[in-house]
Amino acid sequence: MLEELERIQTAGLADLEQATSEPLLEQWRVAHLGRSAPLMQVFDKFGSLAKEARPVIGKRANEVKRLLEARLAERASALHEQALVRALQSETLDVSLPGRPSQQGRLHPTTQTLRRIYEIFAEMGFQVYRSREIESDEYNFELLNIPAHHPARDMWDTFHTQTPGVLLRTHTSPGQIHSMREHAPNPVRVILPGMCFRYEQISARKEIQFNQVEGLAVGHEITFGDLKGTLTDFARRMFGDSVRTRFRASHFPFTEPSAEMDVECFICGGKGCNVCSHTGWLEILGCGMVHPVVLQNGGYDPAKFTGFAFGMGPERIAMLRHRIEDIRYFWSNDLRFLEQF
Ligand SMILES: [Zn+2]
Repeated sequence: MLEELERIQTAGLADLEQATSEPLLEQWRVAHLGRSAPLMQVFDKFGSLAKEARPVIGKRANEVKRLLEARLAERASALHEQALVRALQSETLDVSLPGRPSQQGRLHPTTQTLRRIYEIFAEMGFQVYRSREIESDEYNFELLNIPAHHPARDMWDTFHTQTPGVLLRTHTSPGQIHSMREHAPNPVRVILPGMCFRYEQISARKEIQFNQVEGLAVGHEITFGDLKGTLTDFARRMFGDSVRTRFRASHFPFTEPSAEMDVECFICGGKGCNVCSHTGWLEILGCGMVHPVVLQNGGYDPAKFTGFAFGMGPERIAMLRHRIEDIRYFWSNDLRFLEQF
């Protein structure tokens, strides 16, 4: 029986040399340590052995079993390591494969709309005039014919700074005064884009910050006809050649007379839809002839100079063009929204 165990051990170790892959190693385990392996049969026959032979045979059989198990474990980890080395060598970087495309950024929908507006007015000879976002009460209200007691001040709930009389501008109109004072008595033809701030309850239609584009033309013999022609031409370039416009009387403290301009709904073609509340018209901007007091505050003699001004919201225009239903998307930085433009 001891000789039998020697043979089992020798054969087992010899066969192990041939187990050069993980499946072969598993075959070896079944053959030499499995339930029907010769070694296991030795254990099975244990009961029929002579009583005095049992300790010797048992000890030797256990030694052989432990030896074979230990070699199996060594072999398994060696094979595993070899496989890893082979994988590392064969899976080297293939530089001939096409790379992953890098994500390309794009312009914010408001910026796209702003640039289109700049383009259109540039073609009509308007220059871009930028002015500061922090304003004095004087420029934001007083000089624009909105004195402290004026009811129009209720229209703008304002962010005030801790310095009295200094606030975040509620509209781009203070830029009118800045540009007039810079150019007077020469004619002015500018658009004034920029961010404005109002203390609002944020909702789908209202934000505390938004862009405005204001326009101003001051010179000799500028008439309401020039205002209508300029803005109608703008609407055609912005929304399509066939789009119709209409002007409705309105009121602003810094213009007289004042009007609001609607364009024919370019979504339904004027037939009436949800976007235009079934009126067939979309309100696009406010406008009017520059108020004589404002001209005077800008440094022009209202007896010799006239001018017109207008103001529009690029976010509102972007919302109409792209049928965006909630103004909060513009500042929420959600890529699912931004990637659509
Ligand atoms: Zn419509």
